[in-house]
Amino acid sequence: MPRISPETIEQVTAALNIVDVIGSYFPLRRAGTEFRALCPFHQEKTPSFYVSPDKQTFYCFGCQRGGSIIQFVEEYEHVDFPEAVRRLATRAGVAIQQEELSAEEAEKQTLRKRLLRLHFEVANWFHRNLLRTRAAEAARSYLSERGLNIEIAKRWQIGYAPDSWTAVTEWGQQSGFSREELILGGLVKPKDENNPSARCYDRFRHRLMFPITNDLGEVIAFSGRQINPNATGGKYVNSPESPLFSKGNILFGLAKSKRAIARSRQAIVLEGQIDLITTFEAGVENVTAPQGTALTERHAVLLKRFAEEVILFFDADAAGERAAERALEILYAAGLQVRIGVLPAGEDPDSLIRKGGVETFRALIAEAKDFFDFEIERGLAGTGNQSVARRVALARRVAQFAGLVPDPVLRDTMIMRLAQRLRLPRESLDQVSLQNRRNSSGRDSNFGSEANKAILPEEKIAALCHATLTDQSLLRWIREQPWLAILEPIGGTELFQKILSSAVQPEVPNSIATFFAGLEKGEVAALSQILKRRPIEGSVCAEYWTKLALAELHSRRQRLLSVVRLSEGSTDERSTSLAEINEIDDLEQIIALAQSAWKTSLN
Ligand SMILES: [Zn+2]
Repeated sequence: MPRISPETIEQVTAALNIVDVIGSYFPLRRAGTEFRALCPFHQEKTPSFYVSPDKQTFYCFGCQRGGSIIQFVEEYEHVDFPEAVRRLATRAGVAIQQEELSAEEAEKQTLRKRLLRLHFEVANWFHRNLLRTRAAEAARSYLSERGLNIEIAKRWQIGYAPDSWTAVTEWGQQSGFSREELILGGLVKPKDENNPSARCYDRFRHRLMFPITNDLGEVIAFSGRQINPNATGGKYVNSPESPLFSKGNILFGLAKSKRAIARSRQAIVLEGQIDLITTFEAGVENVTAPQGTALTERHAVLLKRFAEEVILFFDADAAGERAAERALEILYAAGLQVRIGVLPAGEDPDSLIRKGGVETFRALIAEAKDFFDFEIERGLAGTGNQSVARRVALARRVAQFAGLVPDPVLRDTMIMRLAQRLRLPRESLDQVSLQNRRNSSGRDSNFGSEANKAILPEEKIAALCHATLTDQSLLRWIREQPWLAILEPIGGTELFQKILSSAVQPEVPNSIATFFAGLEKGEVAALSQILKRRPIEGSVCAEYWTKLALAELHSRRQRLLSVVRLSEGSTDERSTSLAEINEIDDLEQIIALAQSAWKTSLN
């Protein structure tokens, strides 16, 4: 992707108000000069998420996330910086100026466009095959057996791949797609992988075709379902990984279901396309399904964009259970809550809805238990053996999962509940959960770790950062002084120096956002935190600055004087040191003059 120009970033932040943008995601309450809400990034009961219209920034005291409108969209939508700017630009009606593409980037983008075109057209062709051709008779009757009518087939653009080794290849030739494009898109395979000129054959033959879309609704791959249950080959054949499609990133149906998921803050994860389509069409729309793979960390991040809670329905067999446990780890680490739904033996949501109607399925959703309760009940059920040893073993197993939860308050509540339910002292569980916390801490890198990494400057420097970002006259006053000569050797003033050397102007509200756009995530988080502190008066900060500068110059002079004293023999060293002392005298004078200028300006 090409870089977005700084002018665009400036236009975007100038055109939008952070209160409107965040307020369009969830309601904000006025709190004095600011706005407040429950934080969308961590679990909490009392609001610690603040939005400042003056500074055009947000900050959460609970999880320390903060920044401008751009960082908000990055965090909330889980998109990268350029994508966040793009989304905001669309909203603001600002045209994006992009810096020149490199040849390689341009080529990648052209290929992507061609492959999207290919998928768009071949999805239409498969779909027309299903609706119109005689060969698709079996496919159509299979669909109607599963209760999926023509209207549904049209809405989901279900298609049919002919029973042929070359139909797609021939279609591609007629439609102007090259052999390479068909191979890259995963629609055909060369007979001999090592021989690029070998003949190709169709990957999908005599299958019901479900288009897989990204969350914008663009077709990027297919899942082909067997029609004849006795046929050879897998029940499902999916497109291979391609420049468009990575199965670990894609959730089936999300383009259609994301609104319902966002509305309910709850996502029901199912296993197959047909389950998903039946459920969605029956009116339970907050559903999604991983595509030919177990849930991945990327999936969890994607879900977290829209949901707080995930309901899993898994097969009751051992394999299903293992998959569920792995999924749990991933979902907890992403900060999602999990409930487990139980299906009657031998049923899936599709068969259940067809037999008992959607209300039967809704009832199972309502009955879905929090994973912890589910595990405890299951663990204690059956044998009637509730010995301490058995309860401890069970507690340890479940506490491991609690250890994965990134939010400390939620984690604590879970452990407490677990201890109560199993009638065990809670200290016995803390150890297990802590240990697992340590083991998993390398993994949840998507969640707030940048904020934690940020090193906050010490109090007075932080106060100066705050003041220079909010007080135009103070900022101007320090900028007019030789601040670089003073601050350069002082560790911990890097952020402060960045403010002084930037083009930031507190009088212009969007300029903080523009300034943040050029910083690292951790720096933005640190400054956002600082901006949320109580402001310290300009004159007090001016004094901080003068004292800091004079103290630094004083200690430099002391060092140089001792060099002069000790350098009896070396005249060179002596004279450079004396020259440096002269410079320090000059600097001191400038600082002192600036100080009195500040004082006169106050009178
Ligand atoms: Zn928070």
